[in-house]
Amino acid sequence: MHPQSSIQLQFPLQSLNTFGIAATAQAYLRVTQTEQLLGVLADPAWAGLPRLVLGGGSNLLLTGDFPGLVLHIALEGREVVGGDERSHFVRAAAGENWHAFVQWTLEQGMGGLENLALIPGTVGAAPIQNIGAYGLETKDVFHSVTVFDPRSATVYAMDAGACRFGYRDSVFKREAGRHLIILDVTFALPKQWRPNLRYAELAQAVAEQGLAAPSARQVADTVVAIRRRKLPDPAVIGNAGSFFKNPVVTGARCAALLERFPALVHHLQPDGTQKLAAGWLIDQCGWKGRNLGAAGVYPKQALVLVNNGGATGADVVALARAIQADVLARYGVELEPEPVFV
Ligand SMILES: Cc1cc2nc3c(=O)[nH]c(=O)nc-3n(C[C@H](O)[C@H](O)[C@H](O)COP(=O)(O)OP(=O)(O)OC[C@H]3O[C@@H](n4cnc5c(N)ncnc54)[C@H](O)[C@@H]3O)c2cc1C
Repeated sequence: MHPQSSIQLQFPLQSLNTFGIAATAQAYLRVTQTEQLLGVLADPAWAGLPRLVLGGGSNLLLTGDFPGLVLHIALEGREVVGGDERSHFVRAAAGENWHAFVQWTLEQGMGGLENLALIPGTVGAAPIQNIGAYGLETKDVFHSVTVFDPRSATVYAMDAGACRFGYRDSVFKREAGRHLIILDVTFALPKQWRPNLRYAELAQAVAEQGLAAPSARQVADTVVAIRRRKLPDPAVIGNAGSFFKNPVVTGARCAALLERFPALVHHLQPDGTQKLAAGWLIDQCGWKGRNLGAAGVYPKQALVLVNNGGATGADVVALARAIQADVLARYGVELEPEPVFV
């Protein structure tokens, strides 16, 4: 099959983004083989168009129709590729579902990813914003990534240093790496596994079950139960998880804020900065459970914006801007969106 022959025009994207926003792509290609990327991006008819690399669509906001080519990454495959004295190395193709991959590693008897269970999306997107939850980030269990570079039509590996991971951040979100397409990701999972219960809510939930020495599977099940309780299921109500990053401020700035707002929820970071709870700031501004048009703030978690049915990207943007303005006016803190605006 000629790679371009499966490109479809005027393709609907509503079922491919967890916000459930209706939008159309000028052109769409479901990528199941790396060769398709080489073929399509060597063709000037397609190579010149704006490009959107799409995984599970769970961390983006479609603000309108997409006037370009959507490359929907559906590459499959996962395997144990070796190890060293400390780690098992496991690799998964970018299009694999993240949660299914986490479950698969547990079935192989390998712990390490359980704190990240039930995060929607694909394996390939995990390094993009260095997904994190319950005291663990991708970077903590990351080995390397294989990328396709459309500028040079080459495929190469990048280690953790090259990925420049930060809080909900990596080189793939920046100018230097935004053009790269992730093909697969290799993780280094510990041979000497110990539960990571640094996150207080997780530790408490494990303790409440009387699990003195929980297995990786039990930690995963606990994380899944907490998440199901707190977060809306995108299959039921459109959302992209946390809509804003938790703002990070200096210790001095946090101290000044605490003088005025003693209840301010803040977490000291290893580098001495303070991470403020964005959900608390939004809640204090009265937004929890409020709607603006068809977009709203999830009543159980102020950090999650939802599509109450029929919301457009513009509706969600308007709500986000209103929240940002209120938080800025009251606390002088700027909230930065977590999803990518397309
Ligand atoms: C209910 C819910 C809960 C969530 N909880 C969390 C959480 O706890 N922690 C967390 O960190 N995130 C969370 N998220 C956000 C989201 O699930 C993650 O960011 C996830 O990694 C996005 O994966 P995706 O495949 O859906 O990416 P997409 O939304 O498809 O894409 C996101 C970005 O990555 C790029 N991209 C995707 N795949 C590739 C690739 N192969 N190569 C290059 N670029 C690519 C896209 O172009 C886009 O810029 C949550 C989302 C929802 C809906």
